[in-house]
Amino acid sequence: MPADRQLAHLRAPDIARCLGARSIVVQPLGAIEQHGPHLPFNTDLLIAERVATAAVERVGDELDVWLLPALAYTKSNEHAWAPGTMWLSASTLLAVLDDLGRCVAMTPARRLVFLNGHGGNSALLNVANRELRLRHGLMTFLAHPGLPPDQGGASPAGELGMGIHGGTDETSLMLHLAPELVDVSSAVRRVPEHLAANRYVRFGGPVSFGWLSNDFGDDGHIGDPEAATAERGAQLFAGAIDAFCGALAEVSAFEFRAP
Ligand SMILES: [Zn+2]
Repeated sequence: MPADRQLAHLRAPDIARCLGARSIVVQPLGAIEQHGPHLPFNTDLLIAERVATAAVERVGDELDVWLLPALAYTKSNEHAWAPGTMWLSASTLLAVLDDLGRCVAMTPARRLVFLNGHGGNSALLNVANRELRLRHGLMTFLAHPGLPPDQGGASPAGELGMGIHGGTDETSLMLHLAPELVDVSSAVRRVPEHLAANRYVRFGGPVSFGWLSNDFGDDGHIGDPEAATAERGAQLFAGAIDAFCGALAEVSAFEFRAP
C-alpha cells in the first residue's frame, strides 16, 4: 500500500485488496482561470491540491481515505473573457463528473468527496452529488477548503462580504503556499462598495445574480488583496486542513438511517 494514499499509485490488484466499502475517495477540483494581475491562473488548483494532500497525509490511514489526482479544468466561464483561462462548460463538467462517478463505483469504495477550490463549481457540484447518488449508488459529499462568500461563506470585514475572487484570503493563502507566484506590487483593492448596503441582492444573499468577473471592473478580481499576509495564509491553511480532516471523520461515520 503506498504511504501517500494516492489512488493512482496503486497497481491493478491493489484496488480489490486495499479499498473496501468504508473507503473514502477524495477528488480535488481546482481551476485554471485568471485571478487578477497579482495571482497565478492555478491558484484554486494549488490550494485544493495542497489542502487535500495534507489532510489525507494526516487522517488517510485512520479513515481509509484515497486521493485522486486533482481535476485542473472546471467551470470557469465567469472568466471566459480573459485569455489563459481554460474552462469547461457546465454540461461538459457534469458529464465528466458522471464519468468519474461511474469509475469510482467500479471500485469497492462507496464514499466520494469532492474538495472544491473554485466557487464557480459549487452549484454544479451539488447537482452532481445527487446525480451520482441516483445513477451510481455512491454516497457523495461536497467540501471546500474555505467556503467562498458567494456560496454563503465569510469575507474579512474590509471586503464588506465581497472578497470572492483574488481577495484577502485567497491572496494570503498563496503568499503562504507559493509566494514566488504572487506579484504583490500589482495587488490592489477592488471592492464594489455600491453593493454593500444591499440586504437581498448580494453575494451569498437570498437573491443571487449571474455575474462575470469583468462586470465589476477590468482587473478581474473582487476583493482586497492589499490586506493579505503570509501569516494569515498560514492560519487559513492550517484551519482548512483541520476542517477538512474533521469533515472526513464525519463522512466516514455518516449513515442515512440510524443503526
Ligand atoms: Zn480562486
